[in-house]
This record gives sequence, C-alpha cells and structure tokens, in this order.
Amino acid sequence: DTIGADLDRTAARVGDHEALVECVTGRRWTYPQLVADVDACALGLDALRVQKGDRVGIWAPNCAEWVFVQYGTAKLGAVLVNINPAYRTHELAFVLKQAGISVLVAAPEFRTSDYRAMVAEVRGDCPELREVLFLGDPEWEQLLATGRAADRGLLERRAAELSPDDPINIQYTSGTTGFPKGATLSHHNLLNNGFFVGEGCGYTEADRICIPVPYYHCFGMGMGNLGATSHGATMVIPAPAFDPAATLRAVQEERCTSLYGVPTMFIAELALPDFGTYDLSSLRTGIMAGSPCPVEVMKRVVAEMGMTEVTICYGMTETSPVSTQTGADDDLDRRTSTVGRVHPHLEVKVVDPETGITVPRGTPGEFCTRGYSVMLGYWDEPGKTAEVIDAARWMHTGDLAVMDEAGYLNIVGRIKDMVIRGGENVYPREVEEFLYTHPDVVDAQVIGVPDERYGEELMAWVRLREGAEPLTPEALREFCAGKLAHYKVPRYVKVVEAFPMTVTGKVRKVEMREVSVQELG
Ligand code: ATP
Ligand code: MG
Repeated sequence: DTIGADLDRTAARVGDHEALVECVTGRRWTYPQLVADVDACALGLDALRVQKGDRVGIWAPNCAEWVFVQYGTAKLGAVLVNINPAYRTHELAFVLKQAGISVLVAAPEFRTSDYRAMVAEVRGDCPELREVLFLGDPEWEQLLATGRAADRGLLERRAAELSPDDPINIQYTSGTTGFPKGATLSHHNLLNNGFFVGEGCGYTEADRICIPVPYYHCFGMGMGNLGATSHGATMVIPAPAFDPAATLRAVQEERCTSLYGVPTMFIAELALPDFGTYDLSSLRTGIMAGSPCPVEVMKRVVAEMGMTEVTICYGMTETSPVSTQTGADDDLDRRTSTVGRVHPHLEVKVVDPETGITVPRGTPGEFCTRGYSVMLGYWDEPGKTAEVIDAARWMHTGDLAVMDEAGYLNIVGRIKDMVIRGGENVYPREVEEFLYTHPDVVDAQVIGVPDERYGEELMAWVRLREGAEPLTPEALREFCAGKLAHYKVPRYVKVVEAFPMTVTGKVRKVEMREVSVQELG
C-alpha cells in the first residue's frame, strides 16, 4: 500500500488517539489532527505545483513539521529528500544538485541571516530549485492555510495516481565509510519495513515511542515514525537534536514505553550524573541499532533502564533499513551477542566476498539480502547501484556476518574495517568488546594503521572515565596479556575526549585512520 493510505487507515481505526508529541514546545496531535496537518501540507505543496516525482528537500532537525512533510510528500508521490541538518553550503549545494530539488523546506532554527545567506549563495548553482520555505515563516504558514482551504477531492485524485513502487524518498547513507550515497526508496520499501519493525517490538496503540534519533535518517523516519503510525502508536520527539537529559525527561514525562538509540546515545544517557533520578519505569522495549552494541551497555540498558524487551536491529539505509531483529523472547545472551534473525519476507545469505559462494554456518562472510526491502537504487548513480545490487537483486552490504545453526546472525564488522595483521584477520569489534571490560575505559574504538613489518597494526582510541589515570600503551598491553591472542593486542593507544562522528551517531573510522596515520608519521 502507500504511506498516505496507511496513515489514513490508522487514523480511521484509532480515532482520537494521540499520534505525536513535540516535547520542547508542548504541542500535541491526535491522529485526526495529524492527518489534517499532513493533508494541509500536501495540498499546500500541490498548490506550489509540486507533482508526483518532484524532489522536495527537508533540511531540518526533528520537529513536528518534519512529520507533516514526510507524509505530505508521500501523499503526492513527491520524492522527499532528507538533508542532513549539519550540512553547510558546500554539502547543501551538492544534495540540491544531485537530487535536483525543486522545493526546499528548512528548519525554523535556520531562519537566521547566516542560513538565509547560505541558501542565497547556493541558489545560483541550482537552477531546479524554485522555492525555499523556512518553517515558521509567513510563507510556510501561507502554504498550510492554502492547503487547508483547498479542495480535498484533489488528494483522492492524486492518491489514485500512486503506485506502491514509486520512488518517494532519497535518503543519504551516514557517510561512515566515505561520501554519503542517496538510497532511493519506495512506499513499499519503507512502509513494510516500518510495519515489521513495529511487529518486532510488539507495538500496539498503547505504545509511546521516544525518538531521539534523527529523522533525516531511516532510524527516525522509518523505524520511528512509520513503525508508530502503522500500529497506531504515539511518536514522542524529545528535542530537535539528541540531548541525553531531554531524552530521559521525555521518557519520564510522556511515560514512553519504547526508546530508540544508537549505542553511543544509550552510553550518554547512562553516563548522566543524575541518571538515577529519572523515572523510567514506563519503558518496556526499544531499539538499539546502527552500530555494534557493547555487551556491558546492553546489560545496563536492560537492568537499569528497565528495557527488558529491547531489541537489536541490524540494517542499512539501502535496505529501508532493517534486515534482522532480535525478538522480545530471545534471552539476554542472544540479544547481546547477535543481531537476531532475518525479518519476515526477506532472504539472507552469507557469502565469501571473493567468490560469492555461500559459506558454512559459523564462518564469517559478506551479508547479502534480497526482498521487498532492497532500495530501488542509488539516485542517479546506476554505476554505484550495480556495484552493490547484483543481477539477481541481491544487495551486497559490505558487512561481515556469521550465521549460527539457529539462524541468528552476528555482525563482526565491515569488510573495510577488518584489520589484517601479519596475515591474521582481526575484527576490531572483538578487541573493542574486550577493552570495554577495563575499569577506566568508557568507550573504545579499534582501527588498523599501516605497518611496515605486519602490513597493519592495531591502534585503540579510548575514552576514559573522568578522573582516571592516563592509560599508557604499556599498561593496556599488560591488561590484554594472556587474555587476548598476541596479534589482537593494540600496539598503539590514543586517549581522546571524543571520537569523530557522523550525525547519526556513528564513529567515523575513516577519519580516525587519517588522523592516526598522520600522527604516526
Ligand atoms: P556509509 O554507507 O555512507 O559509509 P553507513 O553504512 O554507516 O555509511 P547507514 O546506512 O546509516 O550508513 O548504516 C548501515 C551500516 O551500519 C551497516 O552497513 C552496518 O555496518 C552498520 N550497522 C547497522 N546496524 C548494526 C548493528 N546492529 N550492529 C552492527 N553494525 C550495524
Ligand atoms: Mg553503508
């Protein structure tokens, strides 16, 4: 089905149930009120001559209007282009041009002169861009007013022209391993995935989902919004951008039952000095995804945040995004050591990346998936699409996974991050897990750096607990001695305050490698 039809159906089913809460402003919407604003947005964009297939960019941190634009564009069959709110002139110009955006909707926070200047600067280079609307400006209010006054029959006529397989979203990958790529997704891709993710969390109308993860990424708009609206649950936006205290306050005040985050977000919440003072007793489930979750963190999330049914998801932007999920009934061991089993209606195989031949269970290989979730392709990049989706429509993820006898998968790392030291394959994840057990280490990331003798050597970047003694490479090696095979023990240690991150909260190992290579000379 289409995203718009699904939203309407939910609204008809749940009646005046709460759909959306924006904590910072205290604004609230019931499902019928949300549909009214979504429709006003769709009809307002229609009045601006936005047609099926036209690209509409949204450049904003999380806010209610993001949701209106997401569902409003879907109702017109326009292609929503998620633009990273951290982007500045150079990157903004790139996306506007790459996606051929005709209407740009920008954040209310961006109404300042410097952002207007940025837009003015790039406009000359982007001939297709004809409208720029800052949320909260009179032009935006006018668009909604026009939409409210418009003939509603128009939306039904637009709906009749839609197909579930139309492209409706261009979503850029996180840029963890290089320049972000624009994954093009359909109603079918996104709606089904949101629905099955919601099923995996056991959502009903009683669920209230706290979404501190960015809407600009599929974790927020897909697993968050579509997961909620396909089940009549409530979306709670704690703050425009991630703020650990605002997140826990939202859980407490809105009695959220579910909380999302990448592991670094949960780490930040658990590290709040007043963590113990929040009432998190309403939490039942949630999703941890995006990067490997350290076992210690998972244990604390279950024990101290009360997320006893928390699930782990694995996926990527290109697969709408989720491919595997742990079940609420999986024991803690499965939820800490695996990313669960394959989602309904998807196929998975683990292959030798060189030969493409399926490897035996228990052996690491490249995770490949096929089914409804695989993107239509990278926007306007058929060459790059062909590098990842083969002729039989298998998506080659670039991630290394191991499947056990029961079908549970474990992600051991990215092919690009695997370190080969003196002919031995080292999966940084395994070393990181071990470093977490050091009492002074709060967070650890391991990379490979070039080495004349061994080809590559391991380097650990660590964040230490406040007040901890500096950690020398010798001390760390001593800590590892006898517990890790000698070739997995990091040769170099760098103590840092923070890691280079993407906005989606992932550590950019490419950047760590660049910095380290330079520092090591
Ligand atoms: P880019 O493709 O631009 O380099 P990216 O791959 O980080 O960035 P996303 O699509 O946001 O962009 O992230 C998908 C990737 O995140 C997966 O390919 C995988 O490497 C990693 N990932 C996602 N979920 C998990 C998980 N539960 N455990 C381990 N890794 C995960
Ligand atoms: Mg990727």
